[in-house]
Amino acid sequence: MASRRHNGSSSSTSSRNYGLVASKMKCRCGLEAITHTVKNGENVGLKFHGCPRWPDGDCGFFEWAHVNPKVVDDLRFQVFERDTQVAEKEMEIDFLKEELKKVEKKMGSKEDELDDTKMELCHTRIELMKATRNEKNFSIFLLVSWIVFAFMIVILKA
Ligand SMILES: [Zn+2]
Repeated sequence: MASRRHNGSSSSTSSRNYGLVASKMKCRCGLEAITHTVKNGENVGLKFHGCPRWPDGDCGFFEWAHVNPKVVDDLRFQVFERDTQVAEKEMEIDFLKEELKKVEKKMGSKEDELDDTKMELCHTRIELMKATRNEKNFSIFLLVSWIVFAFMIVILKA
């Protein structure tokens, strides 16, 4: 304890910038710094700490609040990149939606085609049934004629 009291260099730390303890920041006049917001320019909206006597005879004290502009620039770039990615994804989604519409349209026409094919198949089946029936009739006719023929031979020989 005693050694700490004698250590003079540590007594000045209260006026130094500790980043997030910025609200308790003191300017070079020893007054509590006031937080301002940038009203225009590329850093608009950013907060900074300044001397409470500004603009009349201030000590020139200036500290960015929370973040420095470089970090903000990086963040802005990241946001920009995100926006670009989102825009790309949106474009991709739009494209896929268009493709889906096309496929749905195609499927609709294919369904029509399928119906046509089904109808054709049905017709072909009916034709086939007719044909097989005719064939059956023809073979019956052949069988009958052979029987008649054989019968006639038997009669002629007798
Ligand atoms: Zn000051």
